[in-house]
Amino acid sequence: METQQEKEILRGGQFLVKETKCEDVFTPEDFNEEQKMMRDSVIEFNDREIIPHRDRFEAKDYALTEEVMHKAGDMGFLGVSVPEAYGGLGMGFVSTMIVCEYISSGTGSFSTAFGAHTGIGTMPITLYGTEEQKQKYVPKLATGEWFGAYALTEPEAGSDANSGKTTATLSADGKSYKINGQKMWISNAGFCNLFIVFARIENDKNITGFIVEKDLNNGISLGEEEHKLGIHASSTRQVFFSDTVVPVENMLAGRGEGFKIAMNALNIGRIKLAAACLDSQRRITTIALQYANERKQFNTRISDFGAIKSKLAEMATNCYAGESASYRAAKNIEDRIAMRQAAGNSHQEAELKGVEEYAIECSILKVAVSEDVQHCADEGIQIFGGMGFSKDTPMEAAWRDARIARIYEGTNEINRMLSVGMLVKKAMKGHVDLLGPAQAVADELMGIPSFDTPDYSELFAEEKEMIAKLKKVFLMVAGSAVQKYGPELDNHQQLLLAASDILIEIYMAESTLLRTEKNVKRFGEKSQEIQIAMAKLYLYNAVSIVEKNGKESIISFAEGDEQRMLLMGLRRFVKYTNYPDIVDLRNAIAEKIKAENKYCF
Ligand SMILES: Cc1cc2nc3c(=O)[nH]c(=O)nc-3n(C[C@H](O)[C@H](O)[C@H](O)COP(=O)(O)OP(=O)(O)OC[C@H]3O[C@@H](n4cnc5c(N)ncnc54)[C@H](O)[C@@H]3O)c2cc1C
Repeated sequence: METQQEKEILRGGQFLVKETKCEDVFTPEDFNEEQKMMRDSVIEFNDREIIPHRDRFEAKDYALTEEVMHKAGDMGFLGVSVPEAYGGLGMGFVSTMIVCEYISSGTGSFSTAFGAHTGIGTMPITLYGTEEQKQKYVPKLATGEWFGAYALTEPEAGSDANSGKTTATLSADGKSYKINGQKMWISNAGFCNLFIVFARIENDKNITGFIVEKDLNNGISLGEEEHKLGIHASSTRQVFFSDTVVPVENMLAGRGEGFKIAMNALNIGRIKLAAACLDSQRRITTIALQYANERKQFNTRISDFGAIKSKLAEMATNCYAGESASYRAAKNIEDRIAMRQAAGNSHQEAELKGVEEYAIECSILKVAVSEDVQHCADEGIQIFGGMGFSKDTPMEAAWRDARIARIYEGTNEINRMLSVGMLVKKAMKGHVDLLGPAQAVADELMGIPSFDTPDYSELFAEEKEMIAKLKKVFLMVAGSAVQKYGPELDNHQQLLLAASDILIEIYMAESTLLRTEKNVKRFGEKSQEIQIAMAKLYLYNAVSIVEKNGKESIISFAEGDEQRMLLMGLRRFVKYTNYPDIVDLRNAIAEKIKAENKYCF
C-alpha cells in the first residue's frame, strides 16, 4: 500500500509525465561530508591497490583479484550498504553507488569481482534471507571473510533466465534438497565461498533460489577459467552440481520465488553497473586528453585539431550526463527506502520496494552508461592512434573490459525492451498516468499550432521546452503503438527498441539539464559556463536520436493520413527555434578540459 508521503515524490517512470524541479534532483555536487570522505578513501584505495597492478590483472592473476577483494573487505567497502546489525556500514544507496563507482575504474576485472560479490552475490540474502540466514552469512560476506557468487545462467538459459534446467529435489525425510545441474559464466566462481543458486523444484513454473556453500566434497565441481575478451582476472567458470545436498533452511524466500529474487537483484546490479562504468569513462577521457595534449603531428598538438576536440568534448559530455542521471536515480531510491522505513517497513522490505520502484531508471542507466563507456574507450583508442591499438597503453584493455557491460546484468536489448515494457505495465496498473498525457498530445496534434513568439530569454528556457517536446514524441509514438498493437506490442521488438532509445535520451538529457540548472542557481552562471555547454550539447544529440527513432517507428506502424500527421507532429517536436552552435559548444568544452589537462567537472 502506498503511503501519503510516497505519493508526493516522483515514482519510477513518472519523470516522463511530471515536471521535475531542479531543486528536487540530487547531483554529485550534493555529496555530504561523509560521502566525500568515503569517495576519497576509495579513490586512494584504487590508486594504491589496483591501478599500479593493471599488468598483473591483465596477465590473469586471479589470486591478486582475491587478495585485493580481501583488502577491500578490511576497509569496509564490501559492506557499505549492509545494515550494521549484519556487520556492514549501513550507509545509504548514494554511498553504495559512490564506492561502486570509484573502486571500479582501475580494471574491469576487479570491478566485476566487486560487483558480483557485493551486488548479486550478497543482496539476495540481505533482501530475501530469513533472520537466521542473514545472521549466518551476511556478516561474513560484508567483511570479505567469505565471497559470494550468483549462479543463474545455464548453457541453455541466458536471457530466458527462468527456463533453467537445474533441479532441486526434496529428500524423503524433507530435510534437504539435492541440486543437479550446470551453471555457466559464473563470476567469482573460482574463489567464492557460497553461491546463490537458482533451480527448479518438480515442474514449478518458476525457479527457486538457494544459498549453497561451496563445499567441493558436496557434489560441486568447477570448469576451467573461461578465456575472455576482457576482464581477464575476473574469475569466470562453469559450476556443476551433482547431487549437491542443501538443507531446506537454505531456501531463499519461498518455493518458486527465485525468478523474482533474480530480477530484483539484477535491478540493483544494473544501476550499480552504471556507476561502475562512470569513473572508467572519466579516467579514459583524462588519459586520452593528456595524450592529445602531448602528442604532436604537423607541428601541432593533436588536441588543437578540431577533429580531436570534437571527440574530447563528446567524451566529457557523456561522462557528465552519466553522472547526472545516475545520482538522480540513486537518491530517488535512497529517499524511497527511507520513506518506506519511516512508514514502518523493515529495512529489507523498504530496500526491495525502493529499488523495484525505479527498475525503469535502472535499466535506462545500465544501457546508457554501458554504451557510453564503450564509445568513450573506442574514441580513446582513436585519439591514441596506432598506440591505442597497443597493449602498452591503457586504452586497449579499457576497450575490451568495457565490452562486457553491454552483455551481463541483462543484455542491452533485454534492458531496452524491459524499460518500455515496465513503463507500459505501470501505466496499466495506474501507477503512472500515460494515457491522459498521451491523449493530450494527440489532441495537440489535431489542433492549430501556436504562432506566438516564445520568450527564451531565461537560461535553458528553450532547452526545457525541447525536453517537454521530446516527452511528447515518446507519448505520441508509444501511445499510438499501444493503441495499434495492444498486448501484441511485445512482438514488435524493433519498435520497442526505438521507443526505448527515445526514453533513454529523455532521462539522460533532462537529468543533465536539471543538474546544471541547480548548480547555476547556487554557484552562479559564470562558474557553470562549460556545464551549460555540455547540457546543451547533450540535448542536441538527444534530439537527433529521438528524431531518428521517432521517424523509424512512425513509418513502421502508421500509414496514410495518420502517418503524415504523426510525422508532422514529430517535426514540430524536434524543432529548435534557435539552434545551438554545436561546433562552438564542443570547442568551448574541449578548450576547458585541455587547459585543466583532465576531466574536471
Ligand atoms: C564475463 C561474464 C560474466 C558473467 N557473470 C555471470 C554471473 O556471475 N552469474 C550469472 O548467472 N550469469 C553471468 N553471466 C551471464 C550473462 O548474464 C549472460 O551472458 C547474459 O544474460 C546473456 O545470456 P546469453 O549469454 O545466454 O545470451 P543469449 O540469451 O543467448 O542472447 C544472445 C543474443 O540474443 C539476444 N536475445 C536473447 N533473447 C532475446 C529476446 N527475447 N529478444 C530479443 N533479443 C534477445 C540478446 O540480447 C543477445 O544479443 C556472465 C556472462 C559473462 C560473459
